[in-house]
Amino acid sequence: MDFKKRHSALRLLKYSAVAKAIFILGPKEIAYGANLIAVRVWPSEVYTRVTIESDTALITNFQLLKDPNRLVVDIQGIDLSSSIKELISKVQKNDPYISNVRVGLYQPQVTRIVFDLKEEIVPQLFTLNPVGTYKHRLVFDLYPKNSQDPVTTFLQKNARQEDEEEIARIAKQFQGKSLDNQLSNSFKYARPIIIAIDPGHGGEDPGAIGMAGTFEKDVVLAISHRLKDILEGQGNFRILLTRDADYFVPLHTRVQKARKVQADLFISIHADAFVLPHAKGASVFALSQQGATSTAARWIANKENSADLIGGLNIKSKNVDVAKLLLDMATTAQIKDSLRLGNSIVKEIGAFATLHSKSVEQANFAVLKAPDIPSILVETAFISNPEEEAKLLDEGYQKRVSLAIAKGIDKYFVQNYPTNRPG
Ligand SMILES: [Zn+2]
Repeated sequence: MDFKKRHSALRLLKYSAVAKAIFILGPKEIAYGANLIAVRVWPSEVYTRVTIESDTALITNFQLLKDPNRLVVDIQGIDLSSSIKELISKVQKNDPYISNVRVGLYQPQVTRIVFDLKEEIVPQLFTLNPVGTYKHRLVFDLYPKNSQDPVTTFLQKNARQEDEEEIARIAKQFQGKSLDNQLSNSFKYARPIIIAIDPGHGGEDPGAIGMAGTFEKDVVLAISHRLKDILEGQGNFRILLTRDADYFVPLHTRVQKARKVQADLFISIHADAFVLPHAKGASVFALSQQGATSTAARWIANKENSADLIGGLNIKSKNVDVAKLLLDMATTAQIKDSLRLGNSIVKEIGAFATLHSKSVEQANFAVLKAPDIPSILVETAFISNPEEEAKLLDEGYQKRVSLAIAKGIDKYFVQNYPTNRPG
């Protein structure tokens, strides 16, 4: 999916712009001499996240100013030092919303950071307590004021392409050989099948980290893009990526995106990690109704589900519908379809790679809980195993594993074409 416009899928998360707002964050008895550890910027087409990490909680004020548009953040309790300037200078400037970042001493012990903005934004501010390797974090999510929902864009774009693609499809039939990347070409479905591909983690949440320093979030994004290309090349599939770059997406938002486009399938891509470095092989998971089938499955589910904690979810803004969605247990039918799909993929991956488990495992993954969409999670290999970490970085392995997943999906749909929805 090609995001051309700036937009926001997260209208729910916004609150109205306040021209001038003061937020007191963290404990009031803040100790002077707090140290900034890092300033990070995560740009995406949907929003830009600015994270300020420090060793103690910070007291900050922020103001939104116009003509020109800028966001001014005053941080109390820290003096301007060369290290802060250095941190700020690392911020990339090719951001969709931020044109420049400046820093100065506003008052003694008050450091002012100014974000010059390319357009009017609506900020969302929240704090995150220390978790994992992260210390205290102050987070600004900057949403464009005039935003467009990426999911709506996806639907509009696909509606326009409908006719052209039908012509292309017929033309392809006449050519005999299709450009279908070794997938079935005998089937021309009455309507395209919509698949939501969900690259795990992203942004502030690196996922598992290999011994050589490989981030799970990076390899799974690469594999997801390859899978998208293969499936789109087949002609029957339309793909929505729940994230198409390095930014954080809350778990429930991933599911919401898939439901909004009425996806026929949701497939989350991950790379496993375990405390024992010799653990290896790919595995495929479906949702479990009763609980994890094995202790390892439960362990992995807990780890993947903690993404919102690590990546930084603004829990305050969860509304009732979202909470209900999260609590809504998947139906037996969804799990049955997911197991069937999972088995189809396990067979394809097992044909060339080591499997961690020869059958589909079941666990309570938050991203698999859409009650009406067959949903699976593929752990493509163990990133914690040095040999497999190297494989995950290898273009050949990435291609083979993507093709295996695509074949598994294709074979599943040949036998389980969704007839319950209008074409
Ligand atoms: Zn993961």
